Amino acid sequence: MRLFIAILLSNEMKTSLIEAQNVMYERGLRGNYSPEENLHLTLAFIGDLPRAEPVLDALSTVSFRPFALTLEGIGRFGDLWWAGLQDSAALNAVARRVRRALAENCIPFDRKRFSPHITLVRKASRDAAGIGIAPAAMRVEAISLMRSDRGKNGMIYKELGRIEAEASGEGDYNMKYQIIQIDRDSWRIEDSGVRFFLLTGTERALLVDSGRSVHNARDIASGLTNLPICLLNTHGDMDHVGSNAQFDAFYMHPEEEENFRRGGREGEILPVREGERIDLGERVLEVIHLPGHTPGSIALLDLSRRVLISGDPIQDGRIFMFGRFRNMEKYIRSLEHLQAWRDRFDEIWPSHGSFPVFPELIDKLHDGAIQVLEGSVEGEAMEVHGNSIRAYDVGAAVFLCDP
Ligand SMILES: [Zn+2]
Repeated sequence: MRLFIAILLSNEMKTSLIEAQNVMYERGLRGNYSPEENLHLTLAFIGDLPRAEPVLDALSTVSFRPFALTLEGIGRFGDLWWAGLQDSAALNAVARRVRRALAENCIPFDRKRFSPHITLVRKASRDAAGIGIAPAAMRVEAISLMRSDRGKNGMIYKELGRIEAEASGEGDYNMKYQIIQIDRDSWRIEDSGVRFFLLTGTERALLVDSGRSVHNARDIASGLTNLPICLLNTHGDMDHVGSNAQFDAFYMHPEEEENFRRGGREGEILPVREGERIDLGERVLEVIHLPGHTPGSIALLDLSRRVLISGDPIQDGRIFMFGRFRNMEKYIRSLEHLQAWRDRFDEIWPSHGSFPVFPELIDKLHDGAIQVLEGSVEGEAMEVHGNSIRAYDVGAAVFLCDP
């Protein structure tokens, strides 16, 4: 089915657009006029996809507050006539967020620069000068996922789902998250199924990952500490880098760069490798490289607290091992590698699943991963974010693998 993401227009705005179309028709301009029910503003054109659910999932991570849309002028690209819109930072920001959510969820879409316009006539017969449009404005409170089908008398558009703007007033454009203090100098932020951390020393603070649906982890952290804040990513998967744009540079393992840059993510990577230490002032964190879930997955050993901050490899939830960048053999070797550090931590703070977990989990994950690799555990076919995968429940966790 052909899909696109759009803002549906108010009746008042449609009235202005229809009036402009009438004037164009009176001036002798013939062509395919958009019928009233089809007038809309496209934010992203996706094209043919077998299923709409992955797009709705991606859209659900986009949040925005209501904003105004105002008609301004008539123009054309070749034989396509459109109504323009007043330049709006809010509109541009929403389009950017929608497109980023699609990119991060690997949903293909037309990447042509966003140039907001409402199509009035296609295949116009000729030019027509001096057509104006009555100014009309509306408040945008929803973004819709649309399906288009070719009907007998032109295109038929149908709304498949929508996301609503957040109630305006106080607050930012984030979805709900929860801040939980772990000890005097450590916090975990629970953000739609993923967890990230703020750790403070005497000199500076470190965010370990930057969230999935929040895009202001830095502001959240500044509400908890006055220290300068830096960012480290355990890896580059989308649910760990939600606020990276708030930082010019961040610590990451260099082998994670390709995974991180998918979808055009920017920022300078400050490479950290196994054995390197990050000193926050009386709190030293040592980097351990654990490839497998992704090539540059790292864990941090909080030396004085005897805590391992493990990212995705050590956790009791769902461990993503399907698709590009995953490698089960390397993952198993990483779990074995971790044995060398085993006497230096008593507790593990993972990015997903229960909090905290304990070192025995490493052995259970190791056994489970070997069973999956050897084919001695039964997998179940499933769909995750539009991907057909096989889920292996090994008791300690569920490995999601290629079918
Ligand atoms: Zn994750």
